[in-house]
Amino acid sequence: AVELHDLGKRYDGGAGPVTALDGVTTRFAEGTFTAVMGPSGSGKSTLLHCAAGLEAPTSGTVTIAGTRLGDLGETALTRLRRDRVGFVFQDFNLVSSLTAAQNVALPLRLAGRRADDELVRAALAEVGLADRVGHRPRELSGGQQQRVAIARALFTRPAVLFADEPTGALDNRTSHQVLDLLRGLVDRHGRTIVMVTHDPVAAAVADRVVLLVDGRITDELTGADAATVADRMTALERAC
Ligand code: ATP
Ligand code: MG
Repeated sequence: AVELHDLGKRYDGGAGPVTALDGVTTRFAEGTFTAVMGPSGSGKSTLLHCAAGLEAPTSGTVTIAGTRLGDLGETALTRLRRDRVGFVFQDFNLVSSLTAAQNVALPLRLAGRRADDELVRAALAEVGLADRVGHRPRELSGGQQQRVAIARALFTRPAVLFADEPTGALDNRTSHQVLDLLRGLVDRHGRTIVMVTHDPVAAAVADRVVLLVDGRITDELTGADAATVADRMTALERAC
């Protein structure tokens, strides 16, 4: 599980301080799929970055599979980020000169380790790309590129996969394929996923929807359909 306790994040930029997270406490249980929604600027990406150890919170604690990130030194934190946390982005972040297989193997190679070819092929097969192993990003559709990014993020068997608007750059049909994949990873492989999204249809694929406003969790829905999520978001945006 991933546990956030009283998480706060303040940015002290030249343009004045911004409180991006303001006392967030929640738990992402193992084998569950959580969606995080909220207005633009409500702190969703900041929440994901802090939970993934990509950014240090100003206050509060993050615990991943029993390890408190704040207790780790730089080397241990780097290793935890590499081995225990997966992250996918809206714009895929693949290396354009490398094949799908090489992209999947890249994090391990950068860590000075070798990735077993068989395991790389199995990882691509798990996301439905067994026949695209040698393709480069420009030879793949957007949805296929995102699936390579997901295979790469999952390659070290992380405790959790964070996804920041993974379907934001995809059309409806392709979004559905990626969402089906994520849902299947939870249902069939017991993965733990936390996904930021603007799309009520995407959020409804999750088990739980957490609503963030001004850096605070204001509401939660469990097992809601897309119409219920959309209604709640509309009410929330009207109240803002
Ligand atoms: P969106 O839906 O537009 O992606 P978001 O909910 O992901 O928005 P964040 O990116 O988490 O929002 O930003 C939360 C707040 O923190 C915003 O007010 C933003 O301006 C501010 N912020 C984010 N990153 C920084 C930074 N590096 N320096 C200063 N302020 C920042
Ligand atoms: Mg964001």
